[in-house]
Amino acid sequence: MTVMTQLAALSAQIEAEPAYTLPYIAERVGAHFANVLYFDLGRYLIAAGVMTVFILVFRGWFGARRIQARSANRKDYAREVLSSLRTVIVFGVTTLATLIGREAGIINLNIESAPLITVVWQFALIVVLHDAYFYWIHRAMHTKRLFNATHLHHHKSRTPTPWTSYSFSSWEAAAEAAFVPLFLLLTSTLGLAYAGFAMFLFLWHMIIRNVMAHTGHEIFPAGWVDSPLTSWISTTTHHDLHHSTGHNYGFYFTWWDRWMGTEHPRYAEEFRKNAKPLRLPSFGPRTAERISVFMAAMLASAVTLNTWTIAVETGLG
Ligand SMILES: [Zn+2]
Ligand SMILES: [Zn+2]
Repeated sequence: MTVMTQLAALSAQIEAEPAYTLPYIAERVGAHFANVLYFDLGRYLIAAGVMTVFILVFRGWFGARRIQARSANRKDYAREVLSSLRTVIVFGVTTLATLIGREAGIINLNIESAPLITVVWQFALIVVLHDAYFYWIHRAMHTKRLFNATHLHHHKSRTPTPWTSYSFSSWEAAAEAAFVPLFLLLTSTLGLAYAGFAMFLFLWHMIIRNVMAHTGHEIFPAGWVDSPLTSWISTTTHHDLHHSTGHNYGFYFTWWDRWMGTEHPRYAEEFRKNAKPLRLPSFGPRTAERISVFMAAMLASAVTLNTWTIAVETGLG
């Protein structure tokens, strides 16, 4: 091969590589941002939407397990949904920063398939750490100095609804969202390539538990707080009491509130009052049909979401 043909081959190779020009970077960033917004918005709408449908369809069962006598009004719903959309944008910016960090090689997130055992322990690790992070930033946001600027907005919802789950001020949204990039920076610094699938599970688990905590009706089975096997997992009453009377700063688990003496003194008692013994809700063929149509729509949405996630991943590859 002559020098000339070698040079020609080299220049063809350079042309085939995407050039890191400003429009190219803007386009990549724009595409990532659209995908992460879609993912974060989708999670919120699906989780809060499914719970709302359950509350409507199984009216009788949910009605018996209602926590507060007070109802959220139209203004509450409007504020919750609008501020949740703002939270989605803040989360999107943070997720985008994480993805850029990954492209720049600062964040080590492994999007290839990982062994099940790795996904399990990495998922458990992030949930336990996020629970501690949430407890302490939540306590900090309840201090006089920070409350009005950060957390007052979330507490405008005195009677939580599934739509309260992302109802944060911008400052609180930023503080909540910072956890994932901080966690990944830590694991990357320690030389751990965190499994993308464990992160995917964590993000879904977070929104589902968040919506469950704000459902306004006790959905955990009777006896939950009385068994040592389950009492360490927080219930809907646990967080609902935080909105109505204070105490209970934890998220997934009751550990931190117990260790720090911040658990509501009547938590177990209130839970027992709300959680009537579990009976399977009964419904006629019409309701069954409605549920099946709804489930099919949810499945289709989940498939679309998943396709988008894969699109994000390949866009990063
Ligand atoms: Zn609070
Ligand atoms: Zn809340």
